[in-house]
Amino acid sequence: LAQRLHGIAPTIFSEMSALAMRTGSVNLGQGFPDVDGPPAVIAEAVRALEGGQNQYAPGLGVPALRQAVARHQHRHYGIELDPDIEVVVTTGATEGIAAALLGLVDPGDEIIVLEPYYDSYVAMIQMAGGVRRPVTLRAPDFRLDPDELRAAVTDRTQFVLLNSPHNPTGTVLTRAELQAVADLAVERDLVVITDEVYEHLTYDAEHVPISTLPGMAERTLTLSSAGKSYSFTGWKVGWASGPRELVQAVLAAKQWLTFTSGSPLQPAVAHALDEAPGFPRQLAAALRERRDRLCAGLTEVGLDVRVPQGTYFATTDISALGWADGLAFCLALPERAGVVAIPHQVFHDGPAGDQLVRWAFCKEPDVVEEGLRRLAAAD
Ligand code: PMP
Ligand code: GLN
Repeated sequence: LAQRLHGIAPTIFSEMSALAMRTGSVNLGQGFPDVDGPPAVIAEAVRALEGGQNQYAPGLGVPALRQAVARHQHRHYGIELDPDIEVVVTTGATEGIAAALLGLVDPGDEIIVLEPYYDSYVAMIQMAGGVRRPVTLRAPDFRLDPDELRAAVTDRTQFVLLNSPHNPTGTVLTRAELQAVADLAVERDLVVITDEVYEHLTYDAEHVPISTLPGMAERTLTLSSAGKSYSFTGWKVGWASGPRELVQAVLAAKQWLTFTSGSPLQPAVAHALDEAPGFPRQLAAALRERRDRLCAGLTEVGLDVRVPQGTYFATTDISALGWADGLAFCLALPERAGVVAIPHQVFHDGPAGDQLVRWAFCKEPDVVEEGLRRLAAAD
């Protein structure tokens, strides 16, 4: 195995979903819904497949989707983008993350990243030769401490890799927290790469794109995807947007990763963004009820629950049940209860996540109920 992959474990999501399959467990681990997005959007994809949109898309992506992304950013946030130079379609936000880091980071560059971090950030920072500087969102509130943020800066800091709404904590960064990041970025001339895949899945909080803060549009690369907003996680259609130089850097790497992203799903996602702009809010309303049910049920079984403001996930502290090690807890849980969850531990350098476990509520209500029933019956 190449050195650039040394020390990087297989992704926890594949491991835990395989464990769920093997043990017949209720999968409250990996975040994917068990009901697909709008049928009209699927019909558009079928139309594109049958209508001959089956050859290479342009490098930046199908124009209709780039235009729809620009309209989406304007409709929701008042952001102005030129779809011909400031938007690039990626194969999920995952490729956006990879191409952004490979296209922008030089060996030795330091990147400030929120901890717990989504696992692909760590892998891709390492593959790009960068150095991560975690800033920890600490239990029980998981807020961003501006002093800790500033303490992470060195002479080699070049980037902040942000994620809000934040996986796995469910934190939605406030305008004040984002302003602290923006102040630092302007002062130290940093580029901000922001992963906003859960932008529409917020419950008691408003999502503010950091690129809308003064001085930030010219130094922010924003990543998102149709996976979460439209319940098509398997489609892997995402996009990166921002100033031309940053989008060009993404494209410079992307052209050698995938060349272009798959054609026929792109017009369908354009259709979703343009014709079903209300779908993500309806989804969020449904998810909010499931969040509340899951959090109440987890509290009933004796867990200490942190109610999230966004994402698919709730977090619990397992020490209330007498457990000290979240990974051990999650590995034992299929046997003990027939349920799968995700330990925060694997998203940390330090010990702050050792006793924290993430539970997905983006499942059908009866699946959430069955998971809770099994947890209540476990000893
Ligand atoms: N970023 C975060 C924070 C995520 O949780 C996920 C996956 N759910 C992704 C990126 C990947 O998104 P995609 O499936 O569009 O590649
Ligand atoms: N992002 C989802 C999660 O956090 C699914 C995993 C993935 O996309 N790699 O569970």
